[in-house]
Amino acid sequence: MSEFEERLEKVEARIEAACRAAGRARESVRLLAVSKTKPSEAVEEAARCGLRFFGENKVQEVQHKRPLCAEGLEWHLIGHLQSNKAKVAAPLFHMIHSVDSLKILRALDAHAEQTLPILLQVNVAGEAAKFGLAPEAVRAVLEAANASVHCEVRGLMVIPPFSPDAEKTREFFRALRLLRDRLEEETGTPLPELSMGMSHDLEVAIEEGSTWVRIGTDLFGARG
Ligand SMILES: *Cc1c(COP(=O)(O)O)cnc(C)c1O
Repeated sequence: MSEFEERLEKVEARIEAACRAAGRARESVRLLAVSKTKPSEAVEEAARCGLRFFGENKVQEVQHKRPLCAEGLEWHLIGHLQSNKAKVAAPLFHMIHSVDSLKILRALDAHAEQTLPILLQVNVAGEAAKFGLAPEAVRAVLEAANASVHCEVRGLMVIPPFSPDAEKTREFFRALRLLRDRLEEETGTPLPELSMGMSHDLEVAIEEGSTWVRIGTDLFGARG
């Protein structure tokens, strides 16, 4: 077994255990393999092991990497996007997890040529140095997306404040889920997706309803 296969097996076992503990079906959680900074060979190995969804945080890196990788993979943007990159990003990604302003929503809508699934990133903790919409600003962006031609909001995404103690992130995951529930009720928009949970806190995220766990380090090893 390769090093990657061993790491994947461990991550998979953790996801399965968390789903079981939460009384959820394994299929209700998708594994987004965060391949940022890793070469196309790493993506290819992951793809040979059956992974299909890859998370990246830089447009340029994916422009370079995607043509080197097998077709049929899905590329997801999980990092902040500047509006001058929207034109390149719209056709490059299958889903954008990190829509964090009305401005970027409008830029993506203007450049997309087909339906573009997006998630709205929420700065649940109100951290000054972090990207993401303030919770009270999400509804207006959701309604703008609903009125847009191409952008289709599928749910919400959060990057909670880092804590080595995963249990401390629970309140932020829960807040994202409750915000989602409220927005569904208030606007009637189905928001099935919650992108939350990384290497060290995927269990807590799954217990709180995550449908996309974004795993880099525990799959590909530490980033340089
Ligand atoms: C890098 C990154 C991850 C992966 O983090 P790991 O701790 O390496 O699993 C997840 N989400 C976002 C938004 C990231 O930038």
